[in-house]
Amino acid sequence: MGKKRKYKTGKKRSGGSVAMAVVLIGSLAVLALAVGLLWPQLGDILGAPQPDDSSAPQSSPGTTTTTTPSVAGYYVTTDALNMRSGPGTEYEVLGVLEAGKAVEVLGAEGGWYRISLMGQTAYISAEYVVPSTAAPSTTTTATQAGTTTSPQYSDRYIDGDGMLQFDPAGRYVQAASYPDGAEIPWALLLVNDWNPMKEGYDESVTMKSVESKYAQVNSGQKVDARMYDDLIAMLEAGKAHNIGVQSSYRAYSHQKRLYWKKVEALKRRYSDPIVLQTKAGEEVKRPGFSEHNSGLAVDLYGSGNTLLNESFANTAAYAWLIEHCADYGFILRFPKGKEAVTGVVYEAWHFRYVGDPAVAHAIMDNGLCLEEYLEQNRK
Ligand SMILES: [Zn+2]
Repeated sequence: MGKKRKYKTGKKRSGGSVAMAVVLIGSLAVLALAVGLLWPQLGDILGAPQPDDSSAPQSSPGTTTTTTPSVAGYYVTTDALNMRSGPGTEYEVLGVLEAGKAVEVLGAEGGWYRISLMGQTAYISAEYVVPSTAAPSTTTTATQAGTTTSPQYSDRYIDGDGMLQFDPAGRYVQAASYPDGAEIPWALLLVNDWNPMKEGYDESVTMKSVESKYAQVNSGQKVDARMYDDLIAMLEAGKAHNIGVQSSYRAYSHQKRLYWKKVEALKRRYSDPIVLQTKAGEEVKRPGFSEHNSGLAVDLYGSGNTLLNESFANTAAYAWLIEHCADYGFILRFPKGKEAVTGVVYEAWHFRYVGDPAVAHAIMDNGLCLEEYLEQNRK
């Protein structure tokens, strides 16, 4: 293979500096293009599914979001490295970052740096980056293209209460499918980015504390009392795998405080209210938009795995749950391949109570997600 590049052959006699400039501009374009190609998940930057658990559970190991402001700034990658969904190699790879690329580091978690490129939060190993004095123009351009002119912002708006909403056009809207104010069956309540849970709903529901032997990682777990017996029956039946509740109900009021605190903290970085709240929402779910606010969702541990990440899918506990959860009225809420419908990344640990085992089986046995089932069985 020839090491010489065409611009060095001297064919362009009009002047080396012009040729160099052409090559340089070409390289910048290639770099900008590479950013897009190497980050396939960022193709739909703001429509990119976020975890449903980005809501700072009261005390859950592995999901802390403490940041160290002193590390914040621009860095350059020293090698090609993976960009992951969380601070550790056990987290899903979201894309690959080439060597020599500039990234803006927002904070540190252990040996990992939290970064934001083109609107998505991700983590990279701190070992493969070195501080940079300035952000190279290519990355700045790419970032700006992704964050300030991205058309995906157009499907969001700020409502009369000052809360960021996602335009539900083209989506299943549960309230609209129960005409004349007909009551939605409590166990089928849909909570997602397009179907917020009403403020005050959870305060009208009786929550029941999960007995500590079924919540060995984080005590003080609560769920909707109406699903308690089915939950315990499931945990008992699967006790060979030591399945238990790691996190569960999170009060709307608590979520609300955390969310607006996050918005305040990011205010000086983002002036556009839609961008600001989108960024905040990537770290702390908007109140009413997490299924955990309803008391109908549980994040489960089992087989000694308490990581709340995709590795849970490799456990015997997970295999048992997938086979038996529907018998107790539970479903895997955020299956792989349904991210575009649920708006949430695959979460092997997050299970949802839907009540009737027949409904749960219709969902689990047919490879559906809750949104699809509700749409197919709309009122
Ligand atoms: Zn969850």
